[in-house]
Amino acid sequence: MRAVMALSGGMDSTGLLMRLLADGYKVSCISYEYGQKHNIELERAKANIAYLASKGFEVEHRIADLSSAMGLFHSALTSDEIDVPEGHYEEEAMKATVVPNRNAIFASIVYGYALSIAIKEDCEVEIALGVHSGDHAIYPDCRPEFYDAIGNAFAIGNWDSERVSFNLPYIDGDKESILRDALNACEKLDLEFDTVFANTNTSYNPDELGRSSGTSGADVERILAFHAIGRKDPVEYVTSWEEVLKGALKAQLRHNVMKENGTERAFTGEYDKHFEEGTYLCADCDLPLFTSDMKFDSGCGWPAFNTEIPEAEIERIIDNSHGMKRVEVRCSGCNSHLGHVFDERQGERYCINSICLEFKEE
Ligand SMILES: [Zn+2]
Repeated sequence: MRAVMALSGGMDSTGLLMRLLADGYKVSCISYEYGQKHNIELERAKANIAYLASKGFEVEHRIADLSSAMGLFHSALTSDEIDVPEGHYEEEAMKATVVPNRNAIFASIVYGYALSIAIKEDCEVEIALGVHSGDHAIYPDCRPEFYDAIGNAFAIGNWDSERVSFNLPYIDGDKESILRDALNACEKLDLEFDTVFANTNTSYNPDELGRSSGTSGADVERILAFHAIGRKDPVEYVTSWEEVLKGALKAQLRHNVMKENGTERAFTGEYDKHFEEGTYLCADCDLPLFTSDMKFDSGCGWPAFNTEIPEAEIERIIDNSHGMKRVEVRCSGCNSHLGHVFDERQGERYCINSICLEFKEE
């Protein structure tokens, strides 16, 4: 069985390579240099190929230099003028990390490479791709319909295209399923899982030493995936694993509450019993929402305020979910969910999720 794949040096494609080897494929890999700020991923990919060779696995590895062509494009991943955004992977700001037409370009090269191998070696070749459902929200060129359409176009435009097919084993999976799969594959191949994944990079903005900040959206997703399978990420971060995990869990909770109308558990929020002098800002857009003078101890388990900063113009929406009639409050700056407002005997009580707030001292 013959496969070609794009090995970015990230965790998804690295996991895919382990799976293909465990399934008995002879694999050829291609990596792309496209002016990415995180081109340390190429060094990590090379290190893994060398590690595999030392363990007796011969994997052909080619690097295609596309930096002059893709230098024409505008993206936070390649342009010095745009900073890589931080936060949760599925947030709007992450769109800055889209590289225009990237997967169309990568797919056409890998297709040409696969077809060349099919003809040269007179065999059928599978193009394996590590794309998964978690990518679809922000990266439209990771969606299955995109690969269906482009695969169809390539088949129409090439002789011998019946010898090449696409294999997307993780299209319905996520980063966690990729890691679990890789764990099994490494065991089967007698490879060290930690060595393999120490030789990867996921961060879009690693420091000079190649360490991940742990705060970019891609980092957060990776950290949560390692946490989900009960392992510590072997890659080096700027701070300790405990610190980056704490940050990732916070980013996840913030996303869940503010973007998916979740509620943090009572008595767990940082600002529930917090009574310093200052201002509470929206954690997403920094709009000042409340002052410490408005805060009181309601005993309900969430930060409570009796009024809001007038300029905040917090939006009110009737919320009939969970069989209750409540008034939901949302930030007027970024439309994030904040909590609810209740009409009580003493007046109004804004019941706000702590995770939606950022405190600024006076
Ligand atoms: Zn806001």
